[in-house]
Formats: sequence, C-alpha cells, structure tokens
Amino acid sequence: MTRKFKTNNEANGVSGSGRGSSRAVYLDNAATTAVDPAVLEAMLPYFCDQFGNAASIHHDFGCQAQQAVQNARGQVAGLINANAGEIVFTSGATESNNIAIKGSAEKLRDKGNHIITCAIEHKAVLDSCKYLETRDFEVTYLPVDSLGMLDLAQLEEAITEKTLLISIMAANNEIGTINPIAEIGALADRCKVLFHCDATQAVGKIPIDVQECGIDLLSLSAHKIYGPKGVGALFIRRNRKENRPAPLIHGGGHEKGYRSGTLNVPAIVGLGRACELCGENMMRESERLGKFSQKLLRLISENVDHIRINGHQENRLGNLLNITFEFVEGEGVMLAMPDVAVSSGSACTSETLEPSYVLRALGVPDELAHGSLRFSLGRFNTEQEIDLAAQSVIRAVKKMRDLSPLYEAAVIHDNDEFRNSNEESITNEEIRNPKL
Ligand code: PMP
Repeated sequence: MTRKFKTNNEANGVSGSGRGSSRAVYLDNAATTAVDPAVLEAMLPYFCDQFGNAASIHHDFGCQAQQAVQNARGQVAGLINANAGEIVFTSGATESNNIAIKGSAEKLRDKGNHIITCAIEHKAVLDSCKYLETRDFEVTYLPVDSLGMLDLAQLEEAITEKTLLISIMAANNEIGTINPIAEIGALADRCKVLFHCDATQAVGKIPIDVQECGIDLLSLSAHKIYGPKGVGALFIRRNRKENRPAPLIHGGGHEKGYRSGTLNVPAIVGLGRACELCGENMMRESERLGKFSQKLLRLISENVDHIRINGHQENRLGNLLNITFEFVEGEGVMLAMPDVAVSSGSACTSETLEPSYVLRALGVPDELAHGSLRFSLGRFNTEQEIDLAAQSVIRAVKKMRDLSPLYEAAVIHDNDEFRNSNEESITNEEIRNPKL
C-alpha cells in the first residue's frame, strides 16, 4: 500500500518550499532539511505494512525488509561510486565519524597512535579526536588560512610513521569551503595512511567519488539531503580488510558486526531514496541554488554596507553563504527578522554564546564572528523566498545598526578606520565583483 502525502504547500495551495505565508523562509538547510515528499512516500510502507525485521530472514516480512535495506545500500553506494557491500548504516554522521575515528584508532593502535585532522572539522570529529587524546593518542589539528583552506604541504609534513588516520571533511558546514579531497586521498595512499572524509555537507551537493578521491572511510547523513533524521551511513573500503575499524556498538552482529542493533528500515529506505534523488538532480539543483545564493548576496551587498563573506568566494558549496554584518550581533539580527530562519553558526554549537570556533580559526576577530550569519539554501526554496529573505535581512541589519553607536561612529568617521580592522577584509564592491 502506498499513500501519496501532500507537502504543506500542496495542502495550503501554496507553491514553493512547503511554507505557507505564515511560516518563515527556511534558509538553514545546512542544519537540516525537510524530508522530500518522494522520500516520505518511499518510507511509508515500511512502518505499518512491510514492518518486518531485516534480520528475520525466515519469513516474508523479514525478507521484504532485508530486500528494502539492500536496495537502499545500492542507492547510497551509487551516489558515491562505492559497492553496496561497503555501506554500513548508522544513526547519522556523528556516529559514522565516531566509528571511523575511534574504531580505526582501536583497530590500528599497534601500527601507530597519531591522527591528523583539521581545526575546523565538525565537533563529531574533533571531540572523537579529543577523546582519543585521553587514551594516549596524539592528534595534529591542522590550521587553515583566512579562507578556510588547508595547506597540503603542511598536511604532508605532519604525517609520521605513527600516523594511522587522516580525517578531513569534504566541505565545511559553517563556511562551505571545499577541501581538495582527491589530493588528500592521493597523499594518504602514497603514505599508506587511512583517509576518512566527513562528507556530510558535500554529499548530494557536489560529486563525490570514493574511488577517484582515494577515500577509505566516508561519513554521510540523511537529514542533510532531504531524508529523515537519525540515519546515516559509513562507507568502509572493502579492499583494506586489515584496516577496517573496530565496532563501537556490540550486539547481534548486524551490519557485518560494524554496528549492531535492529535496522531502522523505514529510515534506511528514506536515506536510499534521498541519495537516489540527489544523484538524479544534483547538477541542476546546485546550479539553481548557486544562482539563488548569488542573488541573495547581491541584493544584500547592494543594500547593506560593511559586510564580509567568510570562507572561500569560489571554492565553496553553492548553497551556503556565511556573512559578517559589522557593528551588529548575529543573534540580534536573527531576532529582528523572525520571518527568516538562518543560523549564527552550526546547529550543533549554537547553544553556546562563544563565537564560532570555525570563524576564529580563520582569524576572524570575535566581534566580527558575533556578527556573522549562515544562510544555507535548499531544494524547496523559491526565488520569491530569496527576494523576501533579502528584504528582511536588509531591514533587520539596518534596524540593528540604527541602535549601534559603533556603526554611527564608523559612518561619521567615513568608514575606513573601522572597516579595515582586518587587512584581508573583502569590500562590498569586491563581493559584487569577485574578480576585482
Ligand atoms: N559532520 C558535519 C560536517 C555536519 O554538518 C553534521 C551535522 N551538523 C554532522 C557531521 C553530524 O551529523 P548528524 O546530525 O547526522 O549526526
């Protein structure tokens, strides 16, 4: 039995992103995405109708579930050019990162005790590494430049005989900067070190090929690509048997022993379908969202002075913009525009009032980091929403600046002394014309 569900839009007779006029424009897709109706439709039969346990292979209920899981495995593998047998289902990218890092460390502790990662990785990577430091492992946290790029020569220099793992993300979740993962993979391969890539923000947005990029372990998550929350996957390269991570969860030996626990079949089916849809639509979608985010940036930069873009201008995810609005607090701007949902950093760290550690690592001064907002666009955004969001942002920043004595002082002092507190800042003119 399959039932067709309506999106909010369809139900309300509103076109666009599933948001009726009373709902905010959702520009926080890097935190999570709405489930695509086609994903939901694929999942529904596996709740009440085909509800079997995928491990109960002695009757039809179980076999149907197992078949659905196998199908999803193929769909996930297809998106990253892996084999279905190399995909392990998990509860999300946090768990995948934990298995990749802590599981590899445990498995390879006789080989070495050194891990290399980067200062702007997601907390699920950094905290796994920190945990290992309490267990006699050594971790090198590579710095990044002011655009969020790491230095490959520095990475190569950091590799020692004791290095067992390099863990570097494909694209950053706060600034969108994309790493040269094929070069990192080639280097790791040359040095016979495992390469784990947290590709949670990149998968489904840019092509990721685990073969071409020499990736041994890759983390991804369904809820960033229009699938359900609480499910993800870890790709584990097959031909490096001795290097495969030790499990963190022990139990019934599910997922070839890498991750015991009864499989969440509807969620896994959703992840599979979400990957399939990304594979079909990725190029078209990223072009569309790239245009939208350029438009958003153009509208904002034409109407708001003293802004900066954080991260690389070209070498970044097309759907993500991280903008600093000087002389205001990001939190204040968000409160002044309840009709636009954005984020002042990653959702995972937004409960702290500390400025973003990612922006700090880029050398962004704290007062500017506090004035930064992340706009992340997604599949269901419409151009009309981008126009509305831009107007709200412009209004909200102006409103907050009207209350800001610092801004008043900056305007009176003809900007320069205030604007150029950071020599590398990008002017509004440069934002509009990146080649200047
Ligand atoms: N890595 C990155 C880069 C992320 O953006 C996220 C989600 N914020 C995660 C890992 C964790 O993913 P999950 O929510 O599936 O645990």
